Amino acid sequence: MEYIILIVVLAVLILTIGGTLLLRPRGTRGIRRGRAGGDLGTGTGTETSDSGTGTGTITVPPPAERPAEPEVTKPVLEKPPPSAGRMVRLRARLARSQSGFGSALLSLLSRDRLDDDTWDEIEEVLITADVGVTPARQMVSDLRTRVKVEGTRTPDEVRAMLRAELLEQVETEASRALRTQRHEGRPAVMLMVGVNGTGKTTTCGKLARALIGDGETVVLGAADTFRAAAADQLQTWGERVGAQVVRSDREGADPASVAFEAVSTGIEAEADVVLVDTAGRLHTKTGLMDELGKVKRVIEKRTSVDEVLLVLDATTGQNGLRQARVFAEVVDVSGIVLTKLDGTAKGGIVIAVQRELGVPVKLVGLGEGPDDLAPFDAATFVDAILGG
Ligand code: GDP
Repeated sequence: MEYIILIVVLAVLILTIGGTLLLRPRGTRGIRRGRAGGDLGTGTGTETSDSGTGTGTITVPPPAERPAEPEVTKPVLEKPPPSAGRMVRLRARLARSQSGFGSALLSLLSRDRLDDDTWDEIEEVLITADVGVTPARQMVSDLRTRVKVEGTRTPDEVRAMLRAELLEQVETEASRALRTQRHEGRPAVMLMVGVNGTGKTTTCGKLARALIGDGETVVLGAADTFRAAAADQLQTWGERVGAQVVRSDREGADPASVAFEAVSTGIEAEADVVLVDTAGRLHTKTGLMDELGKVKRVIEKRTSVDEVLLVLDATTGQNGLRQARVFAEVVDVSGIVLTKLDGTAKGGIVIAVQRELGVPVKLVGLGEGPDDLAPFDAATFVDAILGG
């Protein structure tokens, strides 16, 4: 009897264990369930949660690809190169687009006879290169004087003469250095302003990279809240180099409050620089004035604004200059960033805009690549114009 009971108990045990193994769903062995995308988030397969707690679809790698240990993927930070000497490195790009204007001037000035027609042609070349009418006339008058005084004109002399004249026009008394130093225990604050499409957001990203390459810590403020893509774009730039990005997830949020948050974050994080991107809708001058004025006032509740950089697209010529004028009336611009100088043969805009606004070109954009932003250097620029 005892044997029969023992056999029955063993049979029941065998059936129970076997049944459990057979009924257990495949693919869930050894897997912890959690929030969707939790500690299993790197997988490629899909599986539905059986817990009934509403966690939804969990991403699980197929068994063959599943690593023995869960891999923790950290974003790899890029190490941008320092900004020194960049314009020299990018000179070939500048020369490619500018030499048309420089070589036309050199060949006209090398003619045997420099009559009035030739001087008119020289003026025409300068105006076509966006130097502006008044500066072009000034340059022609200066060059005429130089030719009279110097007499003979070997090719080297012509080149040296034109180089000296261009340098005189491009050089400014004001410093081109960016104020990027912390002061009174607070970060330097820079506002990036300009019409949409000029390359403002890209310049913020490139500048953050360059500053980080120079060993500074940077906080980016995405105060262009009218274009959701601008905040995303800035975030991507920030993530690549480890700059903290302050943004609002709501399109149309108050730009001033994002700017305020960015500056507060920069102060708390003891960052060196806070770079604030702004919206550049030229709807009405008063609208723009209200918006930028408010951003600046709100920042000044915490600290001073050290740079207001006006971003200008070099390919837009006189139209760009008109826009620049409006911005300069609305905010105190401390420097100009001339973008897309790689895509135009009209480098004369450097001369025109500096004259127009009375502030120096501090940075130039020479391409769409992340390191295609350079501190402006007059001599390198002039040599590039002359194809040197
Ligand atoms: P925003 O609206 O002023 O913020 O302009 P974005 O930063 O979005 O730039 C507009 C376009 O200009 C983008 O396609 C950029 O890649 C391009 N861009 C910006 N700077 C340069 C530059 O220096 N050279 C060239 N070729 N393209 C540029």
